[in-house]
Amino acid sequence: MFAMLCRRYRAPLEWSEVQDPQPEPHQLLIRVLACGVCRTDLHLVDGELPSAELPVIPGHEIVGTVIGKGVAVDRFRIGDRVGVPWLGWTCGTCRFCTSGRENLCDSARFTGCQIDGGYAEMTVADERYCFPISGDYGAAGAAPLLCAGLIGFRTLRMAGDARRIGIYGFGAAAHIVAQVAASEGREVYAFTRPGDAVAQAFAREMGAVWAGSSTDVPPVALDAALIFAPAGALVPEALRATEKGGTVVCGGIHMTDIPGFPYALLWEERVLRSVANLTRGDASSFLALAPGIPVKTQTVEYPLAAANEALADLREGRLSGAAVLLPG
Ligand SMILES: [Zn+2]
Ligand SMILES: [Zn+2]
Repeated sequence: MFAMLCRRYRAPLEWSEVQDPQPEPHQLLIRVLACGVCRTDLHLVDGELPSAELPVIPGHEIVGTVIGKGVAVDRFRIGDRVGVPWLGWTCGTCRFCTSGRENLCDSARFTGCQIDGGYAEMTVADERYCFPISGDYGAAGAAPLLCAGLIGFRTLRMAGDARRIGIYGFGAAAHIVAQVAASEGREVYAFTRPGDAVAQAFAREMGAVWAGSSTDVPPVALDAALIFAPAGALVPEALRATEKGGTVVCGGIHMTDIPGFPYALLWEERVLRSVANLTRGDASSFLALAPGIPVKTQTVEYPLAAANEALADLREGRLSGAAVLLPG
């Protein structure tokens, strides 16, 4: 089969012919229909994920059809449409796994990072970490739900019952989270790169009541802020915009260094925290919720062989919504 392979860091992915994958006992063999492009894939390519194992096929927002299976598979049948997210395997026995925090598993393995992912014509995935995909979505439309959607959802949940939610960085995750937040009666305030009128208009379309630049002071103090852009300088900005007792949640896997800031920005019981990975519970909850809202995803589609162009467009902020790769 053909795949876009990451052989070394800070170099383009290579269009490569590789061995067809063979499913192990718990694995599904999947024909990839669509695979979303996530900012984490950029961090992978840039060598910012220390746990990555090269060479690797990136891609952890996979929608595909089951075309084969290992002997121990019992949740899916040939022909089923499945989604494969970032969390690819956990040990089940460490103190994190046994306390409802498998997202922090000491030995977790991640799709498109240590396990070959979906920038390929086929892939294999452990069925215990796969999910059925609602017929309400086409394959490309469903792909962004699998990371942007469900990590965004976990990030939003960390904000508790905050009513006025700021979102910093209005890309794939934000456009989904804004719809979920609005459906729950919350107000969304969107912060983009200064002067990015296109992203601000997109945020309003997705339900934001206000959109401005990341350095603007919003018209009201926020109850919580979610940061999806990988810029550490946004942390003090978000704390500054957040009300006493409010929470700032960093939703990305990597960020540039956070600059020093006065304690007064954290004082008065503001909380600063991050979100790491996902649990299968997050995925089940979010995938059950999304079609009912209904969350609509906006995608920009590329052929699989154009993965490098998709990554470049994501890096340069040229996308409204989520990039998705389609194998031939
Ligand atoms: Zn574990
Ligand atoms: Zn992701």
